[in-house]
Amino acid sequence: MAALRVLELYSGIGGMHQALRESCTSAEVVAAVDVNTLANEVYKHNFPSTPLWAKTIEGITLKEFDRLSFDMILMSPPCQPFTRIGLQGDVSDPRTKSFLYILDILPRLQKLPKYLLLENVKGFESSSARNELLRTLETCGFKYQEFLLSPTCLGIPNSRLRYFLIAKLHQEPFFFHAPGQILTRFPDLEDKIQVQEELCKDKVVDKECDSSSLPSGEKSLDPNVGPRCSSKKSLPEGAFLFKLETAEEIERKHKQDNDSSIQMLTDFLEEENEEMSRYFLAPKFLVRYAFLLDIVKPTCRRSTCFTKGYGHYVEGTGSVLQTAVDVQLESVFKHIENLPEEEKLMKLATLKLRYFTPREIANLHGFPPEFGFPDKVTVKQCYRLLGNSLNVHVVAKLISVLLG
Ligand code: SAH
Repeated sequence: MAALRVLELYSGIGGMHQALRESCTSAEVVAAVDVNTLANEVYKHNFPSTPLWAKTIEGITLKEFDRLSFDMILMSPPCQPFTRIGLQGDVSDPRTKSFLYILDILPRLQKLPKYLLLENVKGFESSSARNELLRTLETCGFKYQEFLLSPTCLGIPNSRLRYFLIAKLHQEPFFFHAPGQILTRFPDLEDKIQVQEELCKDKVVDKECDSSSLPSGEKSLDPNVGPRCSSKKSLPEGAFLFKLETAEEIERKHKQDNDSSIQMLTDFLEEENEEMSRYFLAPKFLVRYAFLLDIVKPTCRRSTCFTKGYGHYVEGTGSVLQTAVDVQLESVFKHIENLPEEEKLMKLATLKLRYFTPREIANLHGFPPEFGFPDKVTVKQCYRLLGNSLNVHVVAKLISVLLG
């Protein structure tokens, strides 16, 4: 079979390309398009032989698209117009313009692509942009399926709930056929066997198909949602309420840390060395923001979504790591509010809190060890780029589902 010709739009650092590679599809990215100079540097560093178009998508003509003669589109349009903490400008946000341009171009292509995969934030599913997308796909004759998935459903200790859509042209429906539904897990083996029986076809059963659903509480793990008002009732026996957490939050974290279907963070961490000192939280910062941090230990099986403000803004940008593993978090936070600043600081310092390194976040995102950043890219820039990127394993699996 000839290699699929893939067009990667809003390519960033190449999360989609990496996922395509992981899915072992015989494919070639015929063009990757992004306007961000720095993201493009990282892309080139990792995929040097891929034609990279450093231009705006709306600046590409129908003719140029036609000339690429692609079979598949992979894309992550800008998510800011759809985030729940943003202004939700949706289709009226100028950042949606390029996406609407793609929807306008699609039906006019000489040859429609056979496959399409889109990634966006949770919130996209209730936008007008999504309605426009579905309308365009239906007009063109695509079958599609929507998902809301987080890496936790693949046993990865990181929450990153995202919207995905996969679509294929003029073919039988997906084997798990779920019309009108947004799936919150990967289609499982049973769905497949059932349909196989119905169709009496000899299709290969995907043994790796993950049947786990999103753990309960996933929703409240999302940094954009988290209930911040404390309902301090029904505290589990022995639990200690500190920071701004609710009893429900404590219970959820406890459950997650005991869920052995999720890997421990330690599997994703770098070895501690002198270089790590740059990642420790500054004392001033600690005193000011300690109550807002989501603190995890290497043995935890969870971390919150790493966003582009990680290492810079505090609340809801991602967990921090407690490297002094024997120190009891509860004892540090007990009665801390009333202490003088210096004592507060001394207590907090015992936790030895540090940020996850860019490499560790890349590990949690599923980027392989050989994926790297050019030397000139600063740590802060790495956080920004990784915060915009995606979980490679989740997308790789969706590509496999899409290609059947
Ligand atoms: N999936 C990517 C990240 C996508 S984030 C990754 O793995 O890194 C969205 C990207 O779209 C950003 O890199 C941004 O620079 C790019 N972008 C936004 N508007 C664009 C436009 N009009 N034309 C081209 N690229 C655009």
